[in-house]
Amino acid sequence: MNDYDVARLTEVLRGDGYERTENPDEADLVLINTCSVREKAEAKVASAAGRYREWKHKPGAVLAIGGCVAQQEGAKLLKRIPHADLTFGPDQIKNVPSLLQRVRAERQRIATTAVIDVEDYTFLDADPQPSDVKVSALVTIQKGCDNHCAFCIVPATRGREVSRPADEVVAEVQRFVALGAREVTLIGQNVNSYHAIGTDDDFAELLARVDGVAGLERLRFTTSHPKDFTPQVARAFRDLRTLGSWLHLPVQSGSSRTLKRMVRGYTREEYLEKVEYVRQLVPDISLTTDIIVGYPGESAEDFAETLSLLERVEFDSIYSFEYSERPETPALKLKLYDDVSAEIKAERLQEVQRLQRGITARRFSRYVGQEVEVLVEGESRASRTQACGRTRGNHMVNFHLGAAKSPAELAGQLVGVTIEAARTNTLVGRWVGRAGAAA
Ligand code: SAH
Ligand code: SF4
Repeated sequence: MNDYDVARLTEVLRGDGYERTENPDEADLVLINTCSVREKAEAKVASAAGRYREWKHKPGAVLAIGGCVAQQEGAKLLKRIPHADLTFGPDQIKNVPSLLQRVRAERQRIATTAVIDVEDYTFLDADPQPSDVKVSALVTIQKGCDNHCAFCIVPATRGREVSRPADEVVAEVQRFVALGAREVTLIGQNVNSYHAIGTDDDFAELLARVDGVAGLERLRFTTSHPKDFTPQVARAFRDLRTLGSWLHLPVQSGSSRTLKRMVRGYTREEYLEKVEYVRQLVPDISLTTDIIVGYPGESAEDFAETLSLLERVEFDSIYSFEYSERPETPALKLKLYDDVSAEIKAERLQEVQRLQRGITARRFSRYVGQEVEVLVEGESRASRTQACGRTRGNHMVNFHLGAAKSPAELAGQLVGVTIEAARTNTLVGRWVGRAGAAA
């Protein structure tokens, strides 16, 4: 979501005459985008801003801070970071050029936390330059969130949920594909509750429409809330040409007691039923999830249930976090205070990660010796003579080029790769030709 916001900010500023540079000495504006979902992310803001204290002495230099921390703290952030000139929340991206003009003309510091009413909200169309477009593009279908997960600050910072009209989504996918993208990831906080404005179209229908875009090879989406994950969306994995076989379905905890206290709206059993259903339809689907350890009141038994769920489902990989108490979250109103000690949280996180490492290794090893279909993204980070790309199940693959001349020659193509080894979070293989016979 933040990558997406930064791309739109870059475009809006380009429209106002700015040009992007990676060199602060050349810049007269530094923009820091921020995340407040966990305390650690929030703590990074001060140190990131601190790096520009000297730079700020340059005549005309302006430091602006956007994103969810700016939304949450507003003027307090200007106090905390005295060399910042402007703070603005995610709803204000369109207005950043005019806010910057005011900062420069009126020589005043501005903090804006204004949010746009649901009825008035319009999405900013992507306006990428051809050189910005990669093989894989992000397209937003929704902003905000109407859920009340007790641990989560997102509804407080990003506001009410608004779905983007389906025609706009399809047009944007077409634009990216025309500029060279081959894969699109539809993004939203809870894509399953998407409802197209002015029609009855739900998320499954949107997927079917995007699947029809000529030239699109792969479609993905994130994030998917388990309580709203429907059989129709599960069937889309089986039926749609482009929908990759990867589903990120954040469970957060394996304990129904904890899930209830998190106000997630599903039980362990309901979650497992949904997983079973989608696996019946697409047996090889790659599942990933998010786990929070040390949620208020999490007992040793609750935690054991999380471990047993991980063993039972066998996710391909997971993101795991220690619980971090956030301001303005329902947990505080429910008097669910951060009562699991830092030591226990750290131990539990390690245990989850240790268990998952073994499961990931087992899951990844099923590809060794197999030929898989890879959408090539470009040069591998590991080596300039290797290319990288992703399988339909979203596994990163680094591979030797075989008869191909360079990674660039293959970028954007679907190729067959024979997997020779599985590393911690990637697969390693060798190019064998165009995909077709590939799995
Ligand atoms: N909308 C997404 C989640 C966005 S936040 C969804 O519903 O899946 C991404 C992840 O951050 C969450 O899935 C959760 O695992 C984690 N997270 C959110 N708030 C947190 C908190 N207060 N402490 C620890 N982890 C948190
Ligand atoms: Fe947060 Fe829950 Fe909304 Fe995800 S669905 S953004 S976890 S409130």
